[in-house]
Amino acid sequence: MAVLNRLDWYDIARDTNWTPTYVAESELFPEELSSAFGLPAEVFEEYDEPYKTTYPEYVKVQREKDAGAYSVKAALERSKMFENASPGWLSVLKLHFGAIARGEYSASSAEARMVRFGRAPGMRNMATFGMMDEIRHSQLQLFFPHQYVSKDRQFDWAFKAYDTNEWAMIAARHFFDDVMVTRGAVGVALTLTFAFESGFTNMQFLGLAADAAEAGDWTFSSLISSIQTDESRHAQIGAPLVQILVKNGKKAEAQKLVDISIWRAWKLFSILTGPVMDYYTPLEHRKQSFKEFMQEWIVVQFERSLLELGLDKPWFWDDFLHEIDEQHHGMHLGVWFWRPTVWWNPAAGVAPAEREWLEEKYPGWNATWGQCWDVITDNALDNKMEQTLPVTLPVVCNMCQLPINFTPGPAWKTRDFSLTYEARDYHFCSEGCRWCFEQEPTRYQDHLSLVDRFLAGQIQPPDLGGALKYMNLAPGEMGEDALKFAWLDEVRAERLKKAS
Ligand code: MN
Ligand code: MN
Repeated sequence: MAVLNRLDWYDIARDTNWTPTYVAESELFPEELSSAFGLPAEVFEEYDEPYKTTYPEYVKVQREKDAGAYSVKAALERSKMFENASPGWLSVLKLHFGAIARGEYSASSAEARMVRFGRAPGMRNMATFGMMDEIRHSQLQLFFPHQYVSKDRQFDWAFKAYDTNEWAMIAARHFFDDVMVTRGAVGVALTLTFAFESGFTNMQFLGLAADAAEAGDWTFSSLISSIQTDESRHAQIGAPLVQILVKNGKKAEAQKLVDISIWRAWKLFSILTGPVMDYYTPLEHRKQSFKEFMQEWIVVQFERSLLELGLDKPWFWDDFLHEIDEQHHGMHLGVWFWRPTVWWNPAAGVAPAEREWLEEKYPGWNATWGQCWDVITDNALDNKMEQTLPVTLPVVCNMCQLPINFTPGPAWKTRDFSLTYEARDYHFCSEGCRWCFEQEPTRYQDHLSLVDRFLAGQIQPPDLGGALKYMNLAPGEMGEDALKFAWLDEVRAERLKKAS
């Protein structure tokens, strides 16, 4: 039998659809799972995926990618990266694997929903590859850290984190559940592929790959670059849908889902990626500041693609541009201060040279965040370590689940964005988080933040010790200062120099 050329069959195959005769269309594609805004099947026939690949091509390329990532790992196994890496860099790895690896499985189920309930055949094809991509990502990101588990228990959190009530994990899960697990096929294409993957995963995977290469961690660099090549392919599932929705009178609906996901992704990245890039990565290996990465990868990317596809910039764009200058500094300070409550060792990143860099990248840093770090540094120099540690929990936001914090100093404008809904009081960190809640209160209303759980008596004994137990943080897993305060030596030297 003659084999047809790809061009001779591809367009027919990728368009194959059928009209159900034994069941109604609405039974084959229930609105709850397809979430197609009630639009009829015909409008989705225009769906034209920008990236076309066949199954044999996909398998061949993926096999090569996997072989590449695993062979770099094998070749560098004896390179003593673990022994030679800066403690701050190891923290980058621990935070990344714990927050991301199991989230990839969630992404796989989200892709699977598009495989079955996507309304266009091309969308279902792309999502099939996307689903397999995400399984590969979970496997890679569990296998790679596994070799370190016997050396350092915190690496066990690559697998463990997702099943715990550790506070940063509650935040990550709340977001991932919202945009991956609990949306129908069209919804997930907007919240996950269009809003999250086309901007934010680029940032995490390409941005961190650049820092990893600078830090000499070629294993991690090749691993996450390999993953990103998949992401940039399946991230394209959403854009053709946006065009169809805009054309068929569903612009407002599409805009809303995209806006929710961008805002929520931003909040998570302010704690996941911001501290890593601006504080943990050793100064000499930093490629760009977090803000510069955000501007290049997120701001420019979204401004262009949103407008091109007929959507508007999100209503919160000015707040967002303002926050990328500030928010992650507060998140970093909080994570470092509450370090026993995380599964990695935060690097303070505030030795004299690092502070100089921060001031250069974020003018005004010394007069604001620097003041808080002065107090911490003085206490540490006086050996009052207990004053560098928390005794209570911070107030966290009922949407992003992250500590509510603002820039300290003269311009201090801290405030709580509150809302009473069905007799319960909610507290939000921002207009954006409160707005997300208001779009669909029933979706979020029953969730208890860590602090709500504390107040409800679910955490016993009701103190930091009880909270650590509740978060499953065993001794040897709780975070401590990454450098065990060795950075104080540089501070002392600097102060001596100034005094003399
Ligand atoms: Mn992935
Ligand atoms: Mn993905």
